[in-house]
Amino acid sequence: MAIATISPATGQLIKSFPALTDREIEDKIETASRTARAWRAAPIAERTAVVRRAGELLEERKAEYGRLMTLEMGKTYKSAVEEAAKCALGCRYYADNAERFLADQPVDADKERSYVAFEPLGVVLAVMPWNFPFWQVIRFAAPALAAGNAGLLKHASNVPQCALALEQLFAEAGAPGGAFQALLIGSEAVERVLSDDRVVAATLTGSEGAGSSVASIAGKHIKKTVLELGGSDPFIVMPSADIEAAARTAVTARTINNGQSCIAAKRFIVAESVADRFTRAFVDAMRGLVVGDPMDERTNVGPLATKQIRDDLHSQIEGSIACGATLLTGGNPCDGDGFYYQPTVLANVTPDMPAFREETFGPLAVVVRAKDADHAIELANQSRFGLGAAVWTRDEVEIDRFARALDAGSVFVNGMVASDPRFPFGGVKKSGYGRELSAFGIHEFVNIKTVRIFGGANQGKSLIE
Ligand code: NAP
Repeated sequence: MAIATISPATGQLIKSFPALTDREIEDKIETASRTARAWRAAPIAERTAVVRRAGELLEERKAEYGRLMTLEMGKTYKSAVEEAAKCALGCRYYADNAERFLADQPVDADKERSYVAFEPLGVVLAVMPWNFPFWQVIRFAAPALAAGNAGLLKHASNVPQCALALEQLFAEAGAPGGAFQALLIGSEAVERVLSDDRVVAATLTGSEGAGSSVASIAGKHIKKTVLELGGSDPFIVMPSADIEAAARTAVTARTINNGQSCIAAKRFIVAESVADRFTRAFVDAMRGLVVGDPMDERTNVGPLATKQIRDDLHSQIEGSIACGATLLTGGNPCDGDGFYYQPTVLANVTPDMPAFREETFGPLAVVVRAKDADHAIELANQSRFGLGAAVWTRDEVEIDRFARALDAGSVFVNGMVASDPRFPFGGVKKSGYGRELSAFGIHEFVNIKTVRIFGGANQGKSLIE
């Protein structure tokens, strides 16, 4: 894939970038490795100051960064500015809490002095997607840098200017040269970087295929990985729910980021008795969405990020209709330039259809009827993915039942799934493993070290007595 900015709104090539040469990759890895040694020794207050400053710059420049995101991947400008603001929040969160998360934890064991320490691992490779081009990177970079690691960012090839802006951001925030560098490389060069002994771990956010490939390389070289992969989140509506509120939220949950979010609600599983009412309200609202220029503040849904993504979505819709799904609205690419697609709803969808079975990336919702709570849980879990899940019900017993029974990294009740720095984020099944955000996220890329100090009569004591 060429490393280039291609406007999703017009289809025009804006700027292309040459991939780094082997020599340039080598220089960047060496710089990262040298910096990592010094950076780990820097006091934590120095490291969190950099993260805090990065947060301040993100807040100050949210309009500029917002324009860049919209230009490269087509999200609405309003949501892009919100993304930059959320990045500022994420940086502040780790600036405020990293020292506490990384403090030695004393362990009360026999008469010795014992503790658990959290030490940086070294140079970590981050392979990142285009869909939240700033937030996905900050989720990795803020905790990793605060913990004393150095980061190498291989961003998606369609957002090179976002990658360079993030490198510049951390440099201006005071990170030493080499603590956070962007590598403008294609996916075929990832193996060369990850197999280098100076790179000790990797995190990848992206598709199942990319995750499997990077984890295989890391496994071969015995390196830790975190994988944040795709999702096909269920959005369950039970009879006791506020149906109108559920339908309104469903539209946002499905079309956020032009429908291209890993935690977008994708499969709407609705109890038989309220299915007609929910579907009517939902389809009406989907029809009312304004599709158009992502820079226009009236726009609800901008273009898809690439032509390929639009083509893939269209074939999933056509494939599902061919298997018997009913088209309630949409179903076609929009006329004219750019990679726009009509907000689409399919009904009578069954678990064997592509739109249910596969992750769909775009403004496509499928509605499935459930006989009762058991059936809703069965349908929700009938997926290779397990990222997020939303349930709408006011029945207290049902709430806990769903919360426990759903195969997902997070369950939201009477709301839509969203990431929040205070809570761990990640998935199960083919949605990946490991966690980002919260204390769990910062502990992914540290050496959790046991220290036991014996003294006096305890010296040399055998622990198998
Ligand atoms: P993608 O095609 O898998 O690309 C993600 C990153 O991986 C890009 O940097 C890409 O580089 C690289 N890559 C692709 N194939 C690779 C390979 N074989 N070896 C090494 N690197 C490889 O995914 P995407 O289209 O950018 O992003 C959408 C996917 O990300 C969706 O599945 C979405 O659900 C998932 N996602 C998950 C989360 C989460 O937190 N769980 C969050 C956001 C997105 P190139 O661009 O150069 O190909």
